[in-house]
Amino acid sequence: MAVCYEDALLFRLVLLDGQIGYDVELLQEDATLAQYLAGLNALQEKYFDQCYGCDGCCWERAPLNGIDILRYVAALWQEEGGQVPYSFFLKNYGHIHNEDGVLDISLKRGEDSACIFLDKGKKCCTTHKCRSLVCQSYICIPQTERAEQLRQQIVNGGIDDLARRYYLECQEQGLPFLVHSGTGGEMNLADYPENGFAGKTDYEQVLLKEIVSSDLWAALWTPCQEQVLMMEE
Ligand code: SF4
Ligand code: SF4
Repeated sequence: MAVCYEDALLFRLVLLDGQIGYDVELLQEDATLAQYLAGLNALQEKYFDQCYGCDGCCWERAPLNGIDILRYVAALWQEEGGQVPYSFFLKNYGHIHNEDGVLDISLKRGEDSACIFLDKGKKCCTTHKCRSLVCQSYICIPQTERAEQLRQQIVNGGIDDLARRYYLECQEQGLPFLVHSGTGGEMNLADYPENGFAGKTDYEQVLLKEIVSSDLWAALWTPCQEQVLMMEE
């Protein structure tokens, strides 16, 4: 029970502590973030129910990256946010937490903790087609350690790059550097060096090898260590 996406990544269903979970293995050096997301979406479509009618993961912090915001703005607010996409989006739909100059950037949530894009009545996402990477990459089953680390490192790299983009946009456009919560403090750009997301406008341009640690990169090439589920549907 597996999905091999464009010969770049192999997703397998495995047994983890008696539960069905998934693992990911790399097959190509130039595997992209777009292939990773498409492979996960394909795995979910092939073996699990669609999310429609479930809002189980839409009440928690949902981190953002710069490409997420470009996709949202292009799909929904091209005219309003075209020139200053990060400032426009984050002011209206994001939440920036600044703790002593360390930024955490996520989607805005209501007082009841629901994501700003959740239709609570229908229990579905109103921006499903352009939903964030963190939402697309979440399947609510256990993951092997390397699958979990891969998702975490992608998400963290995306937040750091977005902090850098937002800071630079505010500087270049003379806009206030708004934050919504936290102790505050000056953000030091040197703490946010360019990473594999830098300058990219599409997930297709982001190479996994440029955003994961060397240890994880090496671990992702080894054959799956868990019991692979073999039964076909
Ligand atoms: S991924 Fe989230 S929305 Fe989809 S079924 Fe699981 S908990 Fe529900
Ligand atoms: S963007 Fe959509 S899928 Fe993601 S947390 Fe919000 S409502 Fe849920």
